[in-house]
Parts: sequence; C-alpha cells; structure tokens
Amino acid sequence: MALIVQKFGGTSVATTERILAAARRAILETRAGNQVVMVVSAMGKQTDSLISLAKELTERPNAREMDMLLSTGEQVTIALMAIALEKLGHEAVSFTGAQIGIKTDKTYNKARIRSISTDRMVKALDAGKIVIAAGFQGVDDDFNITTLGRGGSDTTAVALAAALKAERCDIYTDVDGVYTTDPRIVPDARRLNRISYDEMLELASMGAGVMHSRSIEFAKKFGVLVHVRSSFTENPGTVIGPEPESRSASACGAALATDETRLTVYGVPDQPGVAMRLFSKLAEAKIPIDMIAQNSSRDGRTDVSFTVQSDDAAKARDVMMATVEEIGAERLEFDDKVAKVSLVGLGMTQQTGVAQRMFHALFEHGVNIHMIATSDIKISALISREDGVKALRAVHDAFKLNEEPAATASDESTTGSSATKQVDSFLEGVSPRLLSHITSAEMEEMEEVVVEAVDLDEDQARVTLYNLPDRPGLAADVFDKIAEGRIIVDMIVQSVGRENLANITFTIPRAELEAVKSVSTSICDAYGCCAEFDGRVVKLTVRGSGLRSHTGLASRMFRTLSESNVNVSVISLSERCAGVLVDEAHGKTSQQKLVEEFSANRI
Ligand code: ASP
Ligand code: MG
Repeated sequence: MALIVQKFGGTSVATTERILAAARRAILETRAGNQVVMVVSAMGKQTDSLISLAKELTERPNAREMDMLLSTGEQVTIALMAIALEKLGHEAVSFTGAQIGIKTDKTYNKARIRSISTDRMVKALDAGKIVIAAGFQGVDDDFNITTLGRGGSDTTAVALAAALKAERCDIYTDVDGVYTTDPRIVPDARRLNRISYDEMLELASMGAGVMHSRSIEFAKKFGVLVHVRSSFTENPGTVIGPEPESRSASACGAALATDETRLTVYGVPDQPGVAMRLFSKLAEAKIPIDMIAQNSSRDGRTDVSFTVQSDDAAKARDVMMATVEEIGAERLEFDDKVAKVSLVGLGMTQQTGVAQRMFHALFEHGVNIHMIATSDIKISALISREDGVKALRAVHDAFKLNEEPAATASDESTTGSSATKQVDSFLEGVSPRLLSHITSAEMEEMEEVVVEAVDLDEDQARVTLYNLPDRPGLAADVFDKIAEGRIIVDMIVQSVGRENLANITFTIPRAELEAVKSVSTSICDAYGCCAEFDGRVVKLTVRGSGLRSHTGLASRMFRTLSESNVNVSVISLSERCAGVLVDEAHGKTSQQKLVEEFSANRI
C-alpha cells in the first residue's frame, strides 16, 4: 500500500464546497488502495485577514503572538476537512502541527523544521483513517507555536512526504502546473510536463514559483516527487523530480523579479577577509543576498554590487552604511528601480552560446544590462525595472520556450502517448529507489542547508575587460566575438561600472587563453577598453541547496577562505551554487578547508 500526501492551498479550500471537493479527491485516492495524508492551508485569504486584524492594533505585532494567531487559520480548515470526510463516510482525524510533532527552531514567523515524529500519523493511517495535518505550523522546544513563513504549507507537505516516505506529494492549487514563465505576463507561456529539482529551485527562488522555495529544497534533499496540479480539473500537472523535461533544450524557464534593489559598494580594498566582513554583516541581519557581482580589482580596489529583495533594502542600506566605513571602502550606491530577468535550464551546462543568445535577445529589444551573474544553470541580467516585461518576453521568445522541446534519445524512456502516461511512468520509475536511502539520522535537522560537494576546477583562466561603454548590445557584441572564436565561456560577471562604463569578467578553459587574447584585442580596439588576463585562477564551487536562503552560508564560505588568507577575486551565488575564483596556489588547500567547514552539512 502506497502513501500519498495531498496538499490543498488556500483557494482549493476557500469554501465548504471546495473542502468537500478536496475530501472527495482524498477518498478517491484511498479507493485506489492508498493511504492519504492531507495537508491544508487556511481558507481563502484567511491568513491575510488575520494579519490585517493584528495590524489594526499595531504596526509591529509581537512575533510569538502573530504565530499564535496565524496558526488558527489552518486549524479551522483541518477540522472542517475532517468533518467533511466523515460526512462522506470516511474516517478521518485532524492534527495541528504540534500534535504531529513538527518540531521547529525558535524563529517565529520564519521557523525552520528540525524534525517530525511520524508515530501518531502512522497509527491513525493504519487504523484506516485519512490524516489531515495543518500546514505552515510547528512547535518549538518550549511548546510555543511557530509558523514557517508565508506559503509554508507546501513545505509542511513535502516534509511530511519525506518523513513518511510517501510515494508522491500532490500539490493541489489554483494553477495547473509550473509554467515556462508567468502566463500573466507572457500569454504563450507553456506548462511543463516536468522539471528537475535544480531548475525548480532556481525558478522558485525568483518568485516564479507556484511553490514555496524551501519545499523544493526538501524535495530534492529527500527525493520526494512533487506533482503540482489544479484542484479544479483532472489534468496532469507538472512533476518536479530529478530529471529535466528535456535533455536537449538549453532552457526550461525564464523569470522576472521586479522586487529587487541594487547596492554597490565602490572602492572596496581587495584584501582577504573584506568580502567576508561585508557579507557577514548582511548574514547577521538575516538578509538574503541575491545576485552578487564582484569583478576583478584594479589598483588594489574593487567594486562589489549585489541585490536584495526590496523588502530588505532599507535594512540592507543601514547595515552597509556602517560597514562601508569600517572596511575603508569609498561609498555606497543604491538603486531601487531595477529588475532581474533570468534564464534557467540544466541543458545550458552542456551547450555553448546560451548566454550570448540571451544577451542578443535583450539587445534586439533595446534593453540595457546593468549587471550579469551566472551560475551553472542560470543566467541573470539586472536591468531597469521599466524594461522588465519587455525583457522577459524577449528572452522567452528567443529560446522558444512556448514550444514543447523535441524528445531526444535519452528522453525516450519517459515519453508516453498521453500526458498522464508520461507522469505515471515517470513516477513509477523513480520514487522507490530515491526514497529508500533516507536514514533516520538524516531526518534530524531536516531543514539545514545541504552541501553536496565542494568542487575545484583548475582548468580556468580569467579575462576581464575594463571600461566598456555601458549601453544596450554591449554584452551581446562581446560574447558574439568570443563565440566566433568557438571559445566556451563558463562564469560571466558584469559589474556596475563608474561613469557609464562597465567591466565584464568571464572565465574560459585555460587552453583557450591565447585564442581569447587575440579576440580581446579586437574588442578593445573597437571599444577603446583594456583587457586583463589571468591564467592562474581556479574556481571553487560549493554545491547544494538552500545556499542563498540560508543567509549565513556565503559568509561562512568567505570566512573560511579569509582565515587561510586566500583572496577571492570573482564571486557568483545562486540558490544551488556559490562560486569564487582564487589563485591556483590556494586551490587544493582552500577546497580542503571548505570541505571541512561544511562536513556537517553533507547529506
Ligand atoms: N496560510 C499560509 C499563508 O497564506 C500558509 C500557506 O497557505 O501555505 O501563507
Ligand atoms: Mg500557498
């Protein structure tokens, strides 16, 4: 007998009629011979209403009492769901977060799950009951009620699926799956049949998500198959699992984030430990950093740009103002009229010219790029907010994301005649193997950041082009010329320059250094810029998940390097990788130090 977790979001339980409809779905699943755990959100916009009530009293309600208040929303739904199931003739029992033993840390409003005890649920399931669990809530060691952050019921659902070794976690919501981009902005966005955890993590962290991004971290960590589908239709939705939809497509989705603010610290002394101090201040204030672009330095100073969510911008500015003086940097600049357009796809690790195509699309639509940051499966460009929608459409079109990718030989095993079959065969093939490897020790500290590997790539050379004119088409042109030389580009960082000048740093395989020199000469002739080459750099990458949302990780990485007096030249950060360039003399020892630092976070 398999166990299925079904999660119903707020709109799917907004009325008693919809609660009955959800209850029927659960019963159908039991008739197919499965055990069912339902996880439910508060009805409709109930959480918002509760927040408004508190705000009528004060702008800053007490955090503990807010969790006490908000947790009531889910408690209403679980009881009604149990009543609905009994009315339909099925035995059911509802549990609050505390009753099923969802232990969290003490961070009210944003608590992280530490562990889950499954005994009580298993007993009820074995007695033939449908178990209904309140989403979004838990309890700390002192029995205070905590909540997991807005949208946290997804995380509850995936966590329960992991803890109970469920075959699948079905997320019933008001959309019918995960789309290539937001269909409200790009009407021909396409529903994906499936998407890999890594791709979904990158997309969800940009708010493109139908899903709470922490829930995907869980799903990946414990190999939970997640099926996102509509509660209003019978259509299959999108399966989030280990495999991408297509192995040949270079991208699976694009996203626009309009709630970003850029901060640039000019004239940062380029010495070991400075990046660490900068970012550890932000980490202490629990401000997640999004894009970071630190270019290579000149004359012993470097400019560091990064973006944060606009909600955190004022706080980040205060923190940075104090830090600028402390580290002896020149000044701080602040731009809250920016947006970020990103392209995501596992396929881009295997293909050349993907970045260049994206830059071209932006250029053809007259969009100027302020900043570029790349990770292995994501390319992000920071642009003016007013260009946001245009830029997203341009990128979506350029990669033909509206068209279903042609299946390649390696995709064949999962290509069925109907969409349903596709989902089924995919689910059958993967779940048991993946789920069997979870040990009980791993259930402890469930939501800790996970580090999978610390990679050292010694085949890297760095090229930096200084003082390029900052205007539309610049990046497109530079990477066109590089591509003509058939040179594979790895990391790309464009930082915010001074006086309308931009600097672009990228890395290439060392063997290409001579070739790139001649290409760079022609670029410099055309633009009147200058180039610098470094054939002695190596790239260190920490891979895992939750690297960005766990604010302390990047600063732990920088601290570890600075403690061994290693200077970091170029930085890139995403949800799943944090990469830096260091001198080759420090490569192996730095890798060793990072492995030691993160050994406790290994899965
Ligand atoms: N009710 C909570 C919220 O609205 C949790 C959730 O729906 O996932 O954020
Ligand atoms: Mg939700």
